[in-house]
Amino acid sequence: MIKVFLKQGREDAPSRGHPWVFSGAIERVEGEIEAGGIVDLFSHAGEFLGRGYYNPRSQIAVRLLARQPVAIDKAFFRGRIESALAIRKPILSAETTAGARATSSGAGTTNSCRLIHAEGDLLPGLICDKYGDYLVLQINTAGMEQFRDEIISLLKELLAPRMLYDCSDAATRAQEGLPDSAGAIWQFSFPDHIEIRENGIRFLVDVKQGQKTGFYLDQRDNRSLIRGLAQGKRVLNCFSYTGGFSVYASLGGAAAVTSVEASAEALALCKENLMLNNIPLDSQRLVKADVFQFLRDDQGEYDLIILDPPAFAKRKGQVKGAIRGYKDINLYAMKRLKKGGMILTCSCSQHIDADLFQKILSYAAADASRQMQVLGLWGAPSDHPTALHHPEGAYLKAFLLRVVE
Ligand code: SAH
Repeated sequence: MIKVFLKQGREDAPSRGHPWVFSGAIERVEGEIEAGGIVDLFSHAGEFLGRGYYNPRSQIAVRLLARQPVAIDKAFFRGRIESALAIRKPILSAETTAGARATSSGAGTTNSCRLIHAEGDLLPGLICDKYGDYLVLQINTAGMEQFRDEIISLLKELLAPRMLYDCSDAATRAQEGLPDSAGAIWQFSFPDHIEIRENGIRFLVDVKQGQKTGFYLDQRDNRSLIRGLAQGKRVLNCFSYTGGFSVYASLGGAAAVTSVEASAEALALCKENLMLNNIPLDSQRLVKADVFQFLRDDQGEYDLIILDPPAFAKRKGQVKGAIRGYKDINLYAMKRLKKGGMILTCSCSQHIDADLFQKILSYAAADASRQMQVLGLWGAPSDHPTALHHPEGAYLKAFLLRVVE
């Protein structure tokens, strides 16, 4: 086994179970290793800390898979995947009540969720999403790539999917020295749109052309929250993508919903999703626009605003610009709120934590001359778990704020 030794004083995080070892923390590697190979990690003093995979090309040189010296083989992955599936059962169990109608309490059929959430399920580099009978896979690291065959074979055996699609992130794979791998895995006729159910609501998902693996499964509970708040409200959904929040708000009894999105394809699917749920289009406004510009030009007043932008800070170096971006859209959105109105404002930037995001929001409110209260702070639902020792995994923050005056 190849041995990786840490510099003195760098063992604290990995010894508590943090899954990442940065290249700067490594003192020496004993043995010849290829990208993605299995290694044992040791403290400077020679204490065994865990087993993982190594990629000299990546800043995160080692990602730990286990804290014991267990064999990393198909049986290991079977155990990890079975453990991951167990916690998704309650989310998907409503499937047995097939045909259940959407209710304002959020009950109803859900046949789609995230099944494997990388570090959060102690499987760094691996993501698997279930969309009805279809599975979508991301293998984003050289280490996980070594086990592609075992993983696909286990997913087929344990879940019997109709088809499997590889939606791995090409940019992340390139950083790992891996070629783009997107495409159907064993069936070549993968559909353009898959119809899924979430809390009894129907959505079309475009796995091949869409964002992420096709749908923002991580906002499921926050969409339910909006359904419960929308009765009689004038709603503005910014960065609407394929209309997740718009459909929930409409079914929750919103008086009118405006969806703003830059992508024409996403907006077209938003319209289809509204129609699929029998929502009258005369209460809907679909606007293809840049949200930054829209919020400056629009003179509308709203009771409920959703701001769910893409990650403005994907890398540490982008944090400054991201702070400006978040402050800008929040300031202009807050100005559009009626007294007593609410805003669900989200950030999915890993490098902006909840404290910093709250600070940005407080500066935005001050500049908008609004006195606001925090009604709640949420993250992603339980099918997106985070390892307790890996706070970086908690990327999604969603503050619900209300204008007091
Ligand atoms: N809330 C959505 C997901 C939003 S993802 C859901 O629940 O499904 C972010 C969306 O913002 C993407 O669809 C992207 O196309 C869009 N977007 C990115 N920058 C934008 C901009 N400047 N103006 C408008 N839309 C933008």
